[in-house]
Amino acid sequence: MSKVLVFTETTDSNVKSVTLEILGRLAGQEIDVACIGNLPADGQKALAEHGAGNIHKITGSGLDQYSPEGYAKALKSVIEKGGYDYVMAGSTSLGKDLFPRLAGNFDAGMATEVTNFTMDGGTFAGTRPLFAGKVLAKVEIQGPKPHFVTVRPNALGMPESASAGAGNVQDVAAEVGEIRAAIKEIVKGASEKVDLTEANIIISGGRAMKNAENFKILEECADVIGATVGASRAAVDSGFAPHAMQVGQTGKTVSPTLYIACGISGAIQHLAGMRTSKVIVAINTDPDAPIFTKADYGIVGDLFKIVPILTEEFKKIM
Ligand SMILES: Cc1cc2nc3c(=O)[nH]c(=O)nc-3n(C[C@H](O)[C@H](O)[C@H](O)COP(=O)(O)OP(=O)(O)OC[C@H]3O[C@@H](n4cnc5c(N)ncnc54)[C@H](O)[C@@H]3O)c2cc1C
Repeated sequence: MSKVLVFTETTDSNVKSVTLEILGRLAGQEIDVACIGNLPADGQKALAEHGAGNIHKITGSGLDQYSPEGYAKALKSVIEKGGYDYVMAGSTSLGKDLFPRLAGNFDAGMATEVTNFTMDGGTFAGTRPLFAGKVLAKVEIQGPKPHFVTVRPNALGMPESASAGAGNVQDVAAEVGEIRAAIKEIVKGASEKVDLTEANIIISGGRAMKNAENFKILEECADVIGATVGASRAAVDSGFAPHAMQVGQTGKTVSPTLYIACGISGAIQHLAGMRTSKVIVAINTDPDAPIFTKADYGIVGDLFKIVPILTEEFKKIM
């Protein structure tokens, strides 16, 4: 058995679901959780239900807003005191920024963005995609502990059952001292929807959308099925959608249950960001578009005719 600390990000009302995915996979280990700032009541309950023993709720001046230096300092002292074997987090934008710094502070090994892992005998063994997802590498971490791991959201799936932990909240007052690189402002995306990396359903538009206005038909469909709207790089580069919506090698990596690609050809760089989706549906006028080689379901036709029909049909069953 290993002692594992899972760092969780919180939303206004809960913890990020990737945390619960990780906790589910850690059943049988001694699990603690750390969060910085607010911990919503539902989040605390969910953590306890998924096996968290102690929940370190860290607060302190300099931690009101995310900064990699401040967060790393705050977590470092909790990790040192707890004597953890592994420290894990979701491979979110924040996790990708924070964890390499944290691992560097400990001069320790790290496995990034794993899509699967086991803890047989308390030892981590993971899988992670390389070369835009063309290869799956088996990864182990060597050297002194703690070892650091980030896990791609939606890749493990929510656990079907979990054994509860005590969920004891321990307030930790952190002294982070001077933070040399200050974050002046965090600009949030305009969308109120679930972030692409956490979304269970995504409907994305490509160059074929022709303009930003036309993304409305995707938004309408997304509202009915509870999806988040994404875009290809061609759509983003053409100014139809902001970069925050880009899926792919130079955008976000997503693993939803359902990915609907509308007027997207299926270039390797786009596939790199969504090929681990559980079910892929492609709508394209070109029957030879490469996206159809990866799609579970393909519709050959004009997205401007098909998406509104789908939206109406979804309304009947949702
Ligand atoms: C280093 C690098 C990084 C990159 N990173 C990314 C990335 O992160 N994400 C990304 O997406 N791309 C990325 N790209 C770009 C990538 O190579 C492709 O150029 C891009 O994905 C193409 O976007 P698209 O499929 O929307 O456009 P296109 O390739 O132009 O495809 C448009 C598709 O729409 C179809 N179509 C046209 N009209 C309709 C209609 N009315 N109804 C239905 N279908 C229709 C066409 O048949 C076509 O298949 C990257 C490229 C490089 C070199």
